[in-house]
Amino acid sequence: MSDIKGEQSSQLANIGCAGGHEYGIELALEQARKAYSKGEVPVGAVILKDGVVIGQGHNLKETLKDPTAHAEILAIREAARHEAGWRILDATMYVTVEPCPMCAGAIVMARIPRLVIGTKDPRTGACGSLWNIVCDKRLNHRVEVITGIKEHECRKLLEEFFFELRQKDT
Ligand SMILES: [Zn+2]
Repeated sequence: MSDIKGEQSSQLANIGCAGGHEYGIELALEQARKAYSKGEVPVGAVILKDGVVIGQGHNLKETLKDPTAHAEILAIREAARHEAGWRILDATMYVTVEPCPMCAGAIVMARIPRLVIGTKDPRTGACGSLWNIVCDKRLNHRVEVITGIKEHECRKLLEEFFFELRQKDT
């Protein structure tokens, strides 16, 4: 009962800022699940501009036999095609997992203003964990970073994937 009110206010929150980020990460999670179903490490990325998806991608490193086929790179390429230019302005990128140095570099190169991260990556993360390429004052563009949106779901998907992989190995 209490919950009608609670529900209403969470719906309101969904329209607002925090909820908007949850929506973006949910779309990125859908991408990550596509990677999972192809036997790829489940990482997904989506770029939203004015609430519209202008680029999306999921990790396809094994499928494409391409070391650069990370979710973020594929999403950036699609968004740049959409924008008909290399600058992706007034947009937000949503990623399920903290980008690596290559992808963090590409986010800076594309001038993406805002990055929302599901879960941190202490092993290769370059947006605050091991490096902070997206906020490095020595570069000519800095990205606003928001972390920890739907963190549990993003991390759980990775953990499930690697758990399954280990089961197959044994
Ligand atoms: Zn990457």
